Amino acid sequence: MLNNQGRPTRSGEASTADTHTFTGNRALDMEEALIFETGRLDATGVDIDEPSAFVSRLGAHARNSEIGLPGLSEPEAMRHYVRLSRKNYSIDAGLYPLGSCTMKHNPRLNEKMARLPGFADIHPLQPTSTVQGALELTSDLARILMTMTGMSAIAMSPKAGAHGELCGMMAIKAAIEARGEGATRNVVLVPESAHGTNPATAALIGFSVRSVPTGADGTVSPDAVRSALGPEVAAIMLTNPNTCGLFEREIAAIAQAMHEAGAFFYCDGANFNAIMGKARPGDLGVDAMHINLHKTFSTPHGGGGPGAGPVVLSKALAPFAPVPYIVARGDTLDFVEHIEGSQAFGRMTAFHGQMGMFVRAIAFILSHGADGLKQASEDAVLSANYIRVSLNDLMSSPFGDRPCMHEALFDDRWLKETGLTTLDFAKAMIDEGYHPMTVYFPLVVHGAMLIEPTESESKASLDLFIMTLRDLALSALGGERERFTAAPRRAPRRRLDETRAARQPVLKWTKPAPA
Ligand SMILES: *Cc1c(COP(=O)(O)O)cnc(C)c1O
Repeated sequence: MLNNQGRPTRSGEASTADTHTFTGNRALDMEEALIFETGRLDATGVDIDEPSAFVSRLGAHARNSEIGLPGLSEPEAMRHYVRLSRKNYSIDAGLYPLGSCTMKHNPRLNEKMARLPGFADIHPLQPTSTVQGALELTSDLARILMTMTGMSAIAMSPKAGAHGELCGMMAIKAAIEARGEGATRNVVLVPESAHGTNPATAALIGFSVRSVPTGADGTVSPDAVRSALGPEVAAIMLTNPNTCGLFEREIAAIAQAMHEAGAFFYCDGANFNAIMGKARPGDLGVDAMHINLHKTFSTPHGGGGPGAGPVVLSKALAPFAPVPYIVARGDTLDFVEHIEGSQAFGRMTAFHGQMGMFVRAIAFILSHGADGLKQASEDAVLSANYIRVSLNDLMSSPFGDRPCMHEALFDDRWLKETGLTTLDFAKAMIDEGYHPMTVYFPLVVHGAMLIEPTESESKASLDLFIMTLRDLALSALGGERERFTAAPRRAPRRRLDETRAARQPVLKWTKPAPA
């Protein structure tokens, strides 16, 4: 079967006859059906006695049909999940070049620390006198993050980058409302190259979004910002380094223009991994910025969590920071959960934040030290530039030879004559055992390929990655189309109809009618 771009969707078709097996398994790559397809209604992995006769008190609400849960033996259930887990590509399995994501190595030391019972087995409603260590760790991490960013206040509770954006923008909204400008300042500026969460955040809390063009050099100019400014503008949301992997060199002038117009500067700090220890957002005029602990300070992420997105705030926004925060009363630490007459906008979450992520982040920070964190930034930038210059004789870069920060961006102009697309190239990487880079983002670059190697890859692993991409690029330019159009050949599934999967997702299994 072919998908709507004419690419094969299943293994065993086209040129893969040689991989046909009776079971559908290909050695360690095993087929796995849905648990509902393998399970049986009359089987169970547990052995419990029939309950003695009882009278249901559910009345009309009592279930009158089978619940339909799949029954499996214990080995079947275990194998199902282990096999599924082996279909995942992970940072522990190989280089993960996804841009705008910072997929770095998660040191095992962090995991060991996060599993200490004093951190792992506590409950958010425990009396604070019994969790002083956890509070001390949280408040140490808060202090370190404020020091590194040069900011005055912090909210630790947001649970992801996007949640941090929401927190920072709600603080900005509260500050504007406190000035009595809530009804009139309702526009947020967002550069064209921004991550989709930025305009989504602004829109979610009732701002309208005004797009600021990205210049030909991939950055935002103070002039472009000034011409979008007006008394109705509440804030700008700017990412630095931006999603093209470039440092916004005019950031201080942009901040000044915003402040002169009575507006705030929200910085998306997801790319802090490129500048930690080198530049402090507080010195650049930033009013609020989230830090993705799960990108910059290791801690695993992906698949929807867990993450942590503490937000640092300037002096002007500090009074609007949400509760709770930690204070020292004599020798003990305590939470401030409520402030009488405060301008704070409330709280972001039921409790205090992601304890496990805090432990991993501080373990990463303390084991690196200030010099080590600075070196991590430098190495991340060095790795990205090494990739950039190792490939730019074959692949085209949208913004010329300007050095990049932590990620190297290519476009698809170099593929033009081959008739192949960015997607074809990415799929061929899967056959070589690599997770593809981020593709078609940022949107301002045609057929974008965004590669972020991070600091944790050795030169040997970068060299193998580069040689693989060079081999693929030469083969694309040499007209070996099939290597790309038929890719991936060796993955559990081949090309799916991604548009249909997104537009008409089938999220529910329906039992097939008996034959
Ligand atoms: C990852 C990212 C976000 C969102 O962070 P999450 O933790 O995934 O919610 C926002 N902006 C940029 C630039 C990012 O890279």
